[in-house]
Amino acid sequence: MPEVVFPLDSQKKFTEQRIVGHNRWHPDIPALVQVRPGDVFRVHCREWFDGAIQNNDSADDILNAPLPGVHVLSGPIAVLGAEPGDLLIVDILDVGPIPQEDSGPLAGQGWGYTGVFATRNGGGFLTEQFPDAYKVIWDFQGGVATSRHVPGVSFTGIVHPGLMGTAPSANLLRTWNAREQALIDTDPNRVPPLALPPLPDSAILGSLTGDEFDRVAREAARTAPPRENGGNQDIKNLTKGSRVFYPVFVPDAKLSMGDLHFSQGDGEITFCGAIEMGGFMDLHVDVIKNGMELYGVQENAVFMPGRTDPQYSEWLAFSGTSVTLSGEQRYLDSHLSYQRACLHAIDYLQRFGYSDIQAYMILGAAPIEGRLSGVVDIPNSCSTVYIPTEIFDFNVRPGKDGPTRIDPGIGVPRSAA
Ligand code: ZN
Repeated sequence: MPEVVFPLDSQKKFTEQRIVGHNRWHPDIPALVQVRPGDVFRVHCREWFDGAIQNNDSADDILNAPLPGVHVLSGPIAVLGAEPGDLLIVDILDVGPIPQEDSGPLAGQGWGYTGVFATRNGGGFLTEQFPDAYKVIWDFQGGVATSRHVPGVSFTGIVHPGLMGTAPSANLLRTWNAREQALIDTDPNRVPPLALPPLPDSAILGSLTGDEFDRVAREAARTAPPRENGGNQDIKNLTKGSRVFYPVFVPDAKLSMGDLHFSQGDGEITFCGAIEMGGFMDLHVDVIKNGMELYGVQENAVFMPGRTDPQYSEWLAFSGTSVTLSGEQRYLDSHLSYQRACLHAIDYLQRFGYSDIQAYMILGAAPIEGRLSGVVDIPNSCSTVYIPTEIFDFNVRPGKDGPTRIDPGIGVPRSAA
């Protein structure tokens, strides 16, 4: 086993660990861990709410999810010698749940969860249709996920980090804060909000204390959006065997990671989220000197996905166009057309006995594929969502005999907002 450079004790809160990580982006958060180009090392990661979500049949913890505290990230890790302008090579040699037998109190110890936030606490991709809080527990066995809340479905995990990235420079951080505040200013009272400005409340900033903590907490960017440094990209294909090339903006790169997922559908449409869990990552790092210029990677990571995904070969696909549910035509709106494709799939799966929220949870957690199939045919964009038919233990394809109905079981826990 590689040396554990960032250990986490499952019995302790994130802020009580020997090495404290962070939950904001800022160049001045000290790197307490150092590695060298060529090193192989292990990092432990806590699930993004640091244990606030429980393995039970109530969605109250999702309803009251402590969003100011996310994402608890492992790092920053200094890659000695990396300089601004370089590309940081990060190989994901292995990634998996917390290596511990039996079901423990932390997500990752044999189980994980998919939640949907209430509209007033973050919402989600289909928050108009699903305004309350919901939670599904998934059990892991032999690399396969099943759920007492969503019967009739099982799938192989495509384990990956939802979030990984390098620290921004002070200039880049200022750019983020300015452009996101300008967006917020267009509709400052929107629910859910258009973006999340810096928030000192619940900030965790590694070893910083005192005045320096207060300054950085006021300036540091939230971790929810993906940005030029990678960040919360939620790319389900960043699994074992992936090689990622991150731009370096500060000396020693300051790499951080977290928000591990056992599995996820394209888009992470449920927002809270994929199948969330804690776990470990084994990484190898190296540096391409001046790589940002050499390869034209001035912003946003480039990556080569791993090849250990489940190999599903049969799919049922649903399409949607950029017309609202009330019939209004929108111009090439691919966000809307993907919503319509997903709503189409949810409606279809209900014909087999699932509730609408069970179907939504399948799309968020299972390895579904989302595609921008057409983006030029004015006025409609065409988005598609592909569901692997083999994940169901019944025939989910259309046929002359009509849909067979399954027993939906105890259903999905819900907490009304
Ligand atoms: Zn996540």
